[in-house]
Amino acid sequence: MSAIDTLPPLREVIASHQLSARKSLGQNFLLDLNLTAKIARQAGELSECDVLEIGPGPGGLTRGLLAEGARRVLAIEKDPRCLPALAEIAAAYPGRLEVINGDALEIDPLAHLRSPIRIAANLPYNVGTELLVRWLTPRDWPPFWQSLTLMFQREVAERIVAKPGSKAYGRLALLAQWRAEARIVMSLPPEAFTPPPKVSSAVVHLTALPEPRFPADAAILSRVVAAAFNQRRKMLRAALKGQAPDIEDRLISAGIKPTERAEQVPLEAFCALARELER
Ligand code: SAM
Repeated sequence: MSAIDTLPPLREVIASHQLSARKSLGQNFLLDLNLTAKIARQAGELSECDVLEIGPGPGGLTRGLLAEGARRVLAIEKDPRCLPALAEIAAAYPGRLEVINGDALEIDPLAHLRSPIRIAANLPYNVGTELLVRWLTPRDWPPFWQSLTLMFQREVAERIVAKPGSKAYGRLALLAQWRAEARIVMSLPPEAFTPPPKVSSAVVHLTALPEPRFPADAAILSRVVAAAFNQRRKMLRAALKGQAPDIEDRLISAGIKPTERAEQVPLEAFCALARELER
């Protein structure tokens, strides 16, 4: 473990603050500061940016982000047991770390952040995909963030970067690739975490595009792809029959064969269908 700062090693922090990991909070901690600094570097140039971090835990990634030069970090953590450890980091980086104790699904961080903003997190698995979908589906684009650098279970990361025709292709791939450039930038084995989870993990880096690849209303596109992939084995005319009484005609107008299955349909065609459904 290297000294990226003058704070104690994370194992000591965890022992002194009695931060035994809680499964209900998705707590699998990263204790290797070389690794957290490496993840922080994947987030891009940080010195001009505010960084929003969800679930800092004992602060390994937080320390990485600050050591890599983030202008400010706003960290939202649900577990109050982590606050004293985070306060020690805030004291070591005066004026650069703000911690909010609460549920990231319920807190609007915008009042606490100044543009440009990047998001970086080793996400709690139970809320990770929900947060990602929210960040990808605001009504207006570009969003408040420039990039997302997020740790997911490997299988979820693969769903984000999947291409049409593959088993992993679905709602996450479509929403992510519609408005962002998404790639897997790091893979981590279970042993990188304490305690080790059952599966491997990966870091996905998403850069917000200046505008979506194809025009569509975010709420309609989101609804249509959710319905299409909820019944992914069915033909689209059956999977989407609740979306419009004349769904077959609308599919044809969007250039999609009503007998096709969702996993064969590219992003451009789903966007065309969302526009058809808006008429
Ligand atoms: N970032 C730390 C690290 O890399 O070692 C901890 C990562 S751990 C996978 C997830 C963290 O998210 C835990 O600290 C957990 O308490 C926190 N958490 C879980 N649910 C949350 C929520 N809804 N809002 C904010 N934090 C949450």
